Formats: sequence, structure tokens, C-alpha cells
Amino acid sequence: MKEFDFIAQLQQQPFPQLPEIALGIGDDAALCTVPAGMQLVTSVDTLVSGVHFPSETAAFDIGYKALAVNLSDLAAMGATPKWFTLALTCPPNMEPWLAEFTQGLLTLATQHHISLIGGDTTAGHLTITIQICGFVPTGQALLRSGARVGDEIYVTGTLGDAGLGLLCVQNKVALPQKAREFVINRLNRPTPRLSESVALRNLATSAIDISDGLVADLGHILTTSGVGAEIQVKRLPLSPALREYEDAINLALSAGDDYELCFTVPQQKSVELSHMLPEDSYTKIGMITATPGLHCFLHDQKIKVPKSGYQHWAPEAATATKDLNLTR
Ligand code: ADP
Ligand code: MG
Repeated sequence: MKEFDFIAQLQQQPFPQLPEIALGIGDDAALCTVPAGMQLVTSVDTLVSGVHFPSETAAFDIGYKALAVNLSDLAAMGATPKWFTLALTCPPNMEPWLAEFTQGLLTLATQHHISLIGGDTTAGHLTITIQICGFVPTGQALLRSGARVGDEIYVTGTLGDAGLGLLCVQNKVALPQKAREFVINRLNRPTPRLSESVALRNLATSAIDISDGLVADLGHILTTSGVGAEIQVKRLPLSPALREYEDAINLALSAGDDYELCFTVPQQKSVELSHMLPEDSYTKIGMITATPGLHCFLHDQKIKVPKSGYQHWAPEAATATKDLNLTR
């Protein structure tokens, strides 16, 4: 299959049709309309095989996850996604792989009623770049910078599952079959918290999605907002699968890839929050403080905050890209 055959196949997929999309795949560029009173929200994320997912990951899951992580960024902004573009670099002769990959994209796109409007197709090391666009009512986007002293800190879902899933696929941890399936599913098919995010628009003072681990991502809120935080580690929401694992707290604090939301809400709005979100969908984990930095407590005892946050180009990230060194 050649490049244009793949593009033609993509064009024939039943991606949702949206009134805001005047022209999709097939011309030099797509044409879209932003309704009055809305701001266009846009974000892009790249997944590199061997860096963002193990190279043996199923093609369906790679497509699903590539879109999910982008949807998660829009959720973190309180935005509603509308369309995306796909820049796909992959080795030649990947027909069955491409068909599965496309189904992964289509499944999640259909669920969230968003459309593929264009992209680019090239040959090379498997790399997927998705750019996503959506709308937020003007002035209502959730930013990292709005947390204030006294705000309560919350997270959606459970933390650390994807990290444990990665340890499972790397054969570093053995779990009972059910637990293993659960955590690997959390790794490969993250749930972007879009409905929660819309409910938070007029409630949360700040929000971020947890892609690099709670410590790293809450850290971004703290730095950008110029505040500190105290977290009670006993409050961290752990799935039954993670609870069985000895190092659960460390994973919940520092493992990436969960794509849950971390957000702050003024104390006086906590009752309103409970009316907006199902009780079991979110957990209060701590408070914003004036003292800078992130401080974790086990009861009254302060505990060491584990390192978290993967940094591309850092020396410790070099193994995944050792074959890709260019002439310097
Ligand atoms: P050009 O040479 O003008 O850049 P291309 O040949 O790259 O155009 O692409 C032709 C059309 O197919 C464009 O509308 C482009 O957006 C779309 N397209 C190409 N690759 C992809 C892809 N991977 N996913 C979605 N649309 C794609
Ligand atoms: Mg092109």
C-alpha cells in the first residue's frame, strides 16, 4: 500500500461529521469554523515507539492511546474536542497494522464525536503526532495558573495503575490475571476525563492532566500559580489492583500515563463540586498552601517526595533513542 492508498482509506472511515468542519481530508488544508463566543483550544502530542509505548504494543491500542492523550490535554483545559489531524511516520508494508491502528483511532473518535480532518504520512521510525482542536466558552478555560492558598486539591479516578501496567508488560511485576488485565488496560487505553472537565469549568481554579506523575504535574500547577501544597498520601485513590502492590504509594505519586485530572477548588465550592461530579469519580488529596513546594504527609509524618517526571533529551532517557543519534 502506498501513501495515497492509506489516505484514501482514512477518508472512507466513518468519522463523525461536524457542522464546524467545512472541508476535511483531501485538499491542501482543512477548513473549520469557530462559533461566536468560543475560543479555539489546540494541543499537539507525539508518541514515539519505544519511548511512549513498548514497540510490541497492539496497533489498536497505539491508535487509541495517541488520541486519548490528546483528548486528555483538552480535558485539562475544560475544552470540548472537535477535530484532530494525524501526522503518521511508520515503516513501509504495515497494512494490517495500519488497519488496526485506524480502528483504535476511530473507536475513540466516535465515542467523543470528533473527526479526523487531515494530516501527513511519511516513512520512518514509528512516530505518531496528533494535533487536537476544540472549543471552550471564551474566558472559561481551566489554566494551571489559578490555584490559590486554601484551595482543596482533587484528582479524578485512581492513580498509579498505568505505572503498574508498564511494570507488568516489562515483566518486572507478576500480578493475578484480572489485576494484570486491569492495569495494562489502564496503560494502553487511558480514559480522557472530558465530562468531568466540563463540570469543572466554573468551579476549578486550576487543572492539569496527570501524564508524568502526580508529583511532577501538580508541581506544574504549584510553580505556575506561585503556591505550595500539602498532600495526605493516605488519601491517594488506589485501585484494588494497585493496593495489593507493595510500592503502591510511590507509583501513585510518581508514575506517569494515568491521564487523570488534578484540579483545585476553593473550599467554599466543595459542596457545589459534590453536586457536579459523581461521588466515586474524584478524591480530595490535600490543600494549597503559601509555603512553596510539595509536601507529602503520612498522618503527621512528613515523607520524602519521590522523583517523578520523564524528561526527553535527559541522559537517563537516552537508551530508547540510542540508535537515533544524528551528527552533532
Ligand atoms: P500535501 O502534499 O498538499 O501536503 P498530502 O499529499 O500530504 O498533501 O495530503 C493529502 C491530503 O491527505 C491532505 O488533505 C492531508 O491533510 C491528508 N492526509 C495526509 N496524510 C494524512 C493522515 N495521516 N491522516 C489524515 N489525513 C492525511
Ligand atoms: Mg503533506
